[in-house]
Order: sequence, then structure tokens, then C-alpha cells
Amino acid sequence: MQYIQAVLADLKQNHPNEPEFHQAAEEILLSLAPVVMQHPEYEAAALLERFVEPERVVMFRVPWVDDAGKVRVNRGYRVQFNSAIGPYKGGLRFHPSVNLSVLKFLGLEQVLKNSLTGLPIGGGKGGSDFDLKGKSDGEVMRFCQSFMTELFRHIGQDTDVPAGDIGVGGREIGYLFGQYKRLQNEHTGVLTGRGLSYGGSLVRTEATGYGLIYILEEAMRRRGEGLQGKRVVISGAGNVAIYACEKAQALGAKVVAMYDSDGFIYDKEGIRLEVVKEIKEGRRGRIKEYAERVAGAEYHTGCRGIWGIPCDVALPCATQNELDEASAKLLVQGGVKYVAEGANMPTTPKAIEVLQGSGVVFLPAKAANAGGVATSALEMAQSGMRLYWSFEEVDARLKKIMAEIYRNIEDAASRYGKAGDLALGANIAGFEKVASAMLAQGIV
Ligand code: NDP
Repeated sequence: MQYIQAVLADLKQNHPNEPEFHQAAEEILLSLAPVVMQHPEYEAAALLERFVEPERVVMFRVPWVDDAGKVRVNRGYRVQFNSAIGPYKGGLRFHPSVNLSVLKFLGLEQVLKNSLTGLPIGGGKGGSDFDLKGKSDGEVMRFCQSFMTELFRHIGQDTDVPAGDIGVGGREIGYLFGQYKRLQNEHTGVLTGRGLSYGGSLVRTEATGYGLIYILEEAMRRRGEGLQGKRVVISGAGNVAIYACEKAQALGAKVVAMYDSDGFIYDKEGIRLEVVKEIKEGRRGRIKEYAERVAGAEYHTGCRGIWGIPCDVALPCATQNELDEASAKLLVQGGVKYVAEGANMPTTPKAIEVLQGSGVVFLPAKAANAGGVATSALEMAQSGMRLYWSFEEVDARLKKIMAEIYRNIEDAASRYGKAGDLALGANIAGFEKVASAMLAQGIV
């Protein structure tokens, strides 16, 4: 439709050389055509133009000193995308691939994801091109302190509440929080994913992976199926992948493969997660070691081959665009029936077409991995009340939220005559609430 095409053309002109941002905006806006057609007031209020333009982008220098005494400089960012339904909320990513394009794509996705949780949180994303590989604890701490020395003035528990993402785990959140507290002289819920001894929530570590399995379980339940005995392939070996594996195994699935950025392991007897955890959590080793330690397991260099392993369920949990058209075809040949995205935008548009065209149930990231941010919002609620809920209580709330997200996205797809198209349903259900809040607040 003409209005959407015009908005996309403007976006490409105003944000040139940002392919990931263009890809995400195109996927979202084109899918919203049926909604936009029913709401002429959106165009009159330039709602889509405002929806794809971040409210604020902060970009800053992060100088720090390495162990050899050499001064290093990285670049830090915070994209405060949309605060229509609550304070900006979204992770910080530390990875050499971080740039404005990646953060805007993640920020835009986050706006819809946060809306889908049903909780009062807007969307944002941030990070740095800092590479953690090979850095000592002291170097990571000094980097985090320098990063926060600029970021602190832009965030706050009612303004913007960052969390972790790739490269930002418990250690980094601790250093970031320590510096915030020192600069601001406040112990508030300004970051989520905090340690349990200083305001964190139980289940936050497990939340994205567990949530992914809860929504998958709901999708399967509604089709008269369950995870018991299903073969599962998971890409990644980080936080999301590990806890998706843990919950899938607890529900009786057999996880046979995982990867890190160097290569994948295949264990036909079922992955021994305690070995993966020992390698990847804490000491950040290479997944290759698994095959050296577990008899019968195979290691293959390179990641793509993982998608050729026959499975019922595939869970891409590493990074964007890791599952392309050729990989999707391999999965279909191997009999896959469900693909649920643990990572953000791991499946390319062409791959989604292949999967959906072959009748595979496709659960998009903004719904499927919303468990992490939903639990972050539960952490904010606990911080606000100065109390802690038990593991069981947070876990039960997470499970309920994921089941509700599933029902909402299924319902939105059906309302627009596209029953079963859960990617479309997620965009629509997430957008409807943001659009209504934006319209109610006038031209801001
Ligand atoms: P981690 O840093 O803990 O793990 C990422 C994993 O993916 C690592 O095993 C890493 O390999 C691998 N990986 C990274 N880049 C590549 C690549 N280019 N090719 C192959 N493998 C790669 O991150 P998370 O598990 O936290 O996040 C994974 C994804 O999930 C991201 O897209 C993130 O945005 C998304 N997400 C995370 C949430 C959370 O709560 N953590 C919440 C919602 C979404 P290696 O070990 O070699 O570095």
C-alpha cells in the first residue's frame, strides 16, 4: 500500500546504509497493511513515520585502559525507540558487530515485543562494539565503568531501564550497576538482570530460554502435541540456548545439537547440558571441547551444517540472520514441524517464506523470546515494591505471560483473515497497543 511504501522509502533515505534496520522495518510495516487500511487516522497523524523514528539516539565515546596500560576507545550507543506504553526497556549488547543499524533494528523489534508482554514497558536497545573475547575481568570492569559514566545521565528507573543481551551477562550488569549507583547515589531498579544479592529476580537467568519453550509448548498443545520424545536442534550455546535446552529436556525432548560461533556439536544420544554449561558458563570456553569429552559426540567446524540434522523442532538462539533460505530448505527436508526464534531476527525473510510455505509452525522472536524482557519487568515490579517473589511464583507468571502472548498473536492473525500466520499476528498484536497509546498522547 502506498502510505507504507512512502514511509519505507523515507526511512531508507533518512537512515542510509542500515540494512538490518531496513529489513526489520520492512518486515513489520508491510505486514501491518491490513491494520493500516482499517485505520485512516494513522496516516493523518503520521503514526507510521513516528513509529519507525527513534525518539532519541545517544552515541558516545568509551575510553578505557587495558592491562598493558594502553588507552583504547570504543563507541557506545543507546537507542531510546518508543516510550508510548512505558519507560524504554531493552538490552545492552557488547559485540564487535554492534552499530546503529543493528541497534535500531533491535530497538524497533523490542517496541513490539515489550507491548506483547502486556506489561507497561516501552522499547529501546543499546550497547557497544567492545569485544569481550580475550579481555581480563579488570579490563571488562574498566570498560563497563567508562560506558556507564556516560550512559547514567540518560537512564533511570522511570526513564530507561537497560538489561543484558549478547556479551552482557551477570558480570557486566554488576559492574554497570555498581558504577551507576556510585554516580547517581541511588540504589534503584535502573538495570535488570541484576544479581540476586542486589535486587535481581529469580528466573531472570533462565527466562528467555524457558519462555521460548513455554510458548512452543502452548503452540504444540493447541495442535494436540507435546515435546515428549521430540528431536530438537538449537543454535547458539549462550544464555538463551542453554536454558531453552534445559527446559526442553525437562519436558522430555531430546536436544541433539548446539553451536557456538566456531562450529556445532551433534550428540545423537542427547546433549549433556551439564558439560555445555561447564564449558560455556563462567569460563566461556569453546563448544568443540564437548566432543573431546563426551564419547560418541561429533564436532563440525562451521555453523550451517547444523540445519541439515533431521529434527522435529529447530530453535535458532544465536544471532540475526543465522537461518537462511538454504538452511530452511534443509530443515524442511529433515522433517521439521516447529521453528521458534530464541534469538532476534535469526531467520531471514526468504527462510520464513520457505518454512511457512511448507506448513511449519513458525513462532517469531518478538513473541517467542519475550520471556526475558517480561521477567525483567517482573524484576522492576519487585524492585518497586522492595520485595522478592519465589522461583515458583516468577516461573508461574512467566508461563502465564507466554501462553497469553501465544493466544493474542493467534487471535490477531485470525482477526485479519490469516489464521496460523503467527509472525503477522505478533506484529499486529504488538502494534495495536503501541498505536493506540501514541494516538492518545497526541503529536509527540
Ligand atoms: P550469549 O552471548 O549468551 O550467547 C550467544 C551465543 O550465540 C554464543 O554461543 C555465541 O557463540 C553464538 N553466536 C553469536 N554470534 C554468532 C554468529 N555470528 N554465528 C554463530 N554463533 C554465534 O547471548 P544470548 O544467549 O543472551 O542471546 C542470543 C540471542 O538471543 C541474541 O539474538 C539476543 O538478542 C537474543 N535475546 C536474548 C535475551 C536474553 O535474555 N539473553 C532476551 C531476548 C533475546 P560464542 O560462544 O562463540 O560467542
